Amino acid sequence: MSQIRLHFALLAVALAVTTLGFETLAWAAQSQTAVEEDPLDDRLPPGIKVRAFIHRPRIVEHNHLGTCTTTTPKGDTITNYGLTGWHLPAGGVTWKLNESSVPASVGASAARATIQSAFDTWNAADSGKNFSDGGSTTAKNTRFDGTNAILWKRLSPSTIGVTYVWYYTSSGEVAEVDTAFNNRYPWAIFSSSGGECQNSPDAYDLQDIATHEFGHWAGLEDLYNDAEKDLTMYGFGAGGELKKRTLGTGDINGANAVAP
Ligand SMILES: [Zn+2]
Repeated sequence: MSQIRLHFALLAVALAVTTLGFETLAWAAQSQTAVEEDPLDDRLPPGIKVRAFIHRPRIVEHNHLGTCTTTTPKGDTITNYGLTGWHLPAGGVTWKLNESSVPASVGASAARATIQSAFDTWNAADSGKNFSDGGSTTAKNTRFDGTNAILWKRLSPSTIGVTYVWYYTSSGEVAEVDTAFNNRYPWAIFSSSGGECQNSPDAYDLQDIATHEFGHWAGLEDLYNDAEKDLTMYGFGAGGELKKRTLGTGDINGANAVAP
């Protein structure tokens, strides 16, 4: 009788080891294909939808004059904006940074400060847009997982950065947002004065690109008309570009058109 129990016990151990082995294999396979993941294919709870905004590079000549300057105040007359239809929760959103994913050329603490500055730009345009620093996350992917994650990862070469927004279809309230920047490309935080970015015009300025991405968090669409090229919500980005750091009239009008 005890012999039989021993056999069962051994069988149970063998099964557990086999299962663990399969799980490890499955996890390894998932890690390897993580680059190709597409959150748009994920099964979501009922009542939640997701949209992706891909910020694409616009090919420009090297050392193109003008792109390395911020345009403050823009003094522009373009009042265009597009609304996505969602809005932030009344209490605002808390974001988390994957510090280990930050490129060495930027550094984690500088990235954190710059990201908050980019969020603050929207808050300055509309005090109802509140974004708070919730510390760090180990999230390596942009998934619907309850964390508003900001991270760097390997994305398609035609992508500078991507923002996913999950929202409740009934209320239009944002449920979660994730932003990923492409670590295939060089990143920098350029000095806003002087010609620093002329020396490395291929690097993307974090504050420039982040301010654009966070416009999607706030409920704004991409704009693609030539007349809108100086607005923060213009849908293309360039290396050495700084002008999206500051909002134009259309960006500010758009932020205020979304409540809260
Ligand atoms: Zn965009």
